[in-house]
Amino acid sequence: MNPINVAKFGGTSVANAAAMDNCANVVLANPATRIVVLSASAGVTNLLVTLAQGELDAAGRDAELAKLADIQHAILASLGHPAEVSDQIHAQLDDIRTMAQQASQHTDAELADRLIASGELMSTRLFTELLRQRGVNAHWQDVRQIMRTDSRFGKATVDIVATRTLCQQTLGPLLGDTLIITQGFIGADSDGRTTTLGRGGSDYSAALLAEALDAGSIEIWTDVPGIYTTDPRLVSSARPIPEISFVEAAEMATFGAKVLHPATLQPALRQNIPVFVGSSKAPAEGGTWIRASTESRPLFRAVALRRQQVLVTLHSLNMFHAYGFLAEVFGILARHRISVDLITTSEVSVSLTLDHTGSQSNGEPILSDKVLAELGQWCKVEVETGLALVALIGNRMSEVNGVASQVFATLNQHNIRMICYGASAHNLCFLVNEGEANEIVNRLHQTLLD
Ligand code: ASP
Ligand code: MG
Repeated sequence: MNPINVAKFGGTSVANAAAMDNCANVVLANPATRIVVLSASAGVTNLLVTLAQGELDAAGRDAELAKLADIQHAILASLGHPAEVSDQIHAQLDDIRTMAQQASQHTDAELADRLIASGELMSTRLFTELLRQRGVNAHWQDVRQIMRTDSRFGKATVDIVATRTLCQQTLGPLLGDTLIITQGFIGADSDGRTTTLGRGGSDYSAALLAEALDAGSIEIWTDVPGIYTTDPRLVSSARPIPEISFVEAAEMATFGAKVLHPATLQPALRQNIPVFVGSSKAPAEGGTWIRASTESRPLFRAVALRRQQVLVTLHSLNMFHAYGFLAEVFGILARHRISVDLITTSEVSVSLTLDHTGSQSNGEPILSDKVLAELGQWCKVEVETGLALVALIGNRMSEVNGVASQVFATLNQHNIRMICYGASAHNLCFLVNEGEANEIVNRLHQTLLD
């Protein structure tokens, strides 16, 4: 059998019946597509997260539940209220109501994941029905039977080996003549309890399934025709990038470009599976291919922006013991599974940046009082917010003379809080005041990329 294609559609692509219809066209246009991975319809996961947080009173819950039901009903109506799927969706909505009520009495991470996972379970039911109505032999697969994770609810880690075995056993026999429709973002631990992979995790799910099934390509369908040189809403001259390498795309995803979940490229890279990013609304516009190596390797490829950065500066209390200090600090952060983006150090202090909320599915803030208290035993902790991270992505940036002066000469009107340069040849990034970020990105794009 020729290598298969795994196609993933994001929330806006499955927001309503018309959008789902576009997805069906895209799926049917590529005969290699055997697996379709979906997000929840746009807005659904956010509503479920609100319910999972359990802070609403009965009336507030009813209002959110009504919004959820409206989204599902509109799609059901377009499909002509098919009996079986209508029943499944209504059963799911009933479960959501019960779980939301439980969450209002007592929230816990396991319950939250069960609740938050409902969005993908519903969107896939609806899309399977839509395909069947178009004459496709579509099979709805509960991904929890094949995506094995640990039990860290909210941001579970996938067991790649177990997932591979399960995928091959369960899906292998179906691949020949069925189109498999399954959920992104969710999985299950070895006790069968529902887990989630962190917000935006559907892209990552698609890549993991592609890896497990030795797929030949992955398509990520979203609402923009590919990865741009920068956010086109910020800079009008931003343009799509036809081809980009795994490393550059990984830097971009990590440092701000919202089109792709940062973890997506790990499985693709491990198995060298090319990834395509395009718009399900306008597939003819083309998109971006992400591959191991590309023909063009420009010095500057793109500029990414990530807002809501937190800068944490830790001053050692005892400068004569500075050698154990970094190990201690990173030990504490690791125990709390906090991932650090940028680091600069001096003899007695270390500055690091974190994302505002991390990417926990349940929206918990990353710097909890507990973490701050633990760090406080070792050092004086200073936390600054209102910052944004600007990253220039490209090739050989640390090897070519004059890169830093070229970049910073453009920005001499601005205060740069922290710079990371040299760790990767593909990335130069720095922290700026959130309020100046738009102007900075525009300036850089104008001078280096226009
Ligand atoms: N529905 C999930 C979210 O909104 C996962 C995804 O869309 O990738 O985060
Ligand atoms: Mg997404």
